[in-house]
Amino acid sequence: MKIDEKECVGCGECLAYCPMGAISMDDDADFASIDEDECVECGVCFRSKVCPVDAFEEEIHPWPRSIRAAFSNPLLVHKETRVPGRGTEEAKTNDVTGQFRKGFVGITTEMGRPGLGARFYDVEKVAKALARAGVVFAPNNPVTYLMVDQKTGQLNPEIISEKVCSAMIESTTPLENLPEVIKQLKGVSPEIETVFCLTISSRLEEDGTAPCEKVLKELEVLFYINGKTNVGLGRPLFKEVG
Ligand code: SF4
Ligand code: SF4
Repeated sequence: MKIDEKECVGCGECLAYCPMGAISMDDDADFASIDEDECVECGVCFRSKVCPVDAFEEEIHPWPRSIRAAFSNPLLVHKETRVPGRGTEEAKTNDVTGQFRKGFVGITTEMGRPGLGARFYDVEKVAKALARAGVVFAPNNPVTYLMVDQKTGQLNPEIISEKVCSAMIESTTPLENLPEVIKQLKGVSPEIETVFCLTISSRLEEDGTAPCEKVLKELEVLFYINGKTNVGLGRPLFKEVG
């Protein structure tokens, strides 16, 4: 994103609209400018139409900077997964997509939030921790597509310093491997420069309990139970075996 300094009248109205705080006024406060390294190309400043003189100019960036808009602009569709926004249908569609079956859990880690964002070197640290725990990365996820080695979780080095609003890693693993996943994530968490949240998804037992609940209690992990099911996405494609 660019601001045409010749057009900008320095009103400062746009500053509060940037979720990354990347817009600032120059020392004399007569025009605004964008910190290119902090801007995640989300397009909020442009789409909000807050600027009275239309000084914002959207740019189409080549690789690897193009990855910023792909992960941060909710109107864009990830070309690999064909899903807009975060680029994934997420575990809540499991009844249709069948990403994980009984006896398995879905592990979702999301790095970054508006206000902080995330660099891919932090995404890679979490991906490597998950790989050490032996998870299987979701094939139709935009971060998985950026991996050069799914066994180690290594990402394409070309994008490693790029910043995005947030990025989501999805994977599955047998329920009995959950303690190892938690151990690896706890181990790597002090090295992460941004926030990340962990979601563990599982199919409910017949009595309505979540199988992962007992394991998390034994590990003394603080957690909240949430039921989330998306309906209307299509007919269930997979039948539970056994
Ligand atoms: S594109 Fe997004 S991150 Fe970049 S300056 Fe505009 S609002 Fe801020
Ligand atoms: S809203 Fe437009 S004119 Fe006002 S400071 Fe921002 S870019 Fe400049």
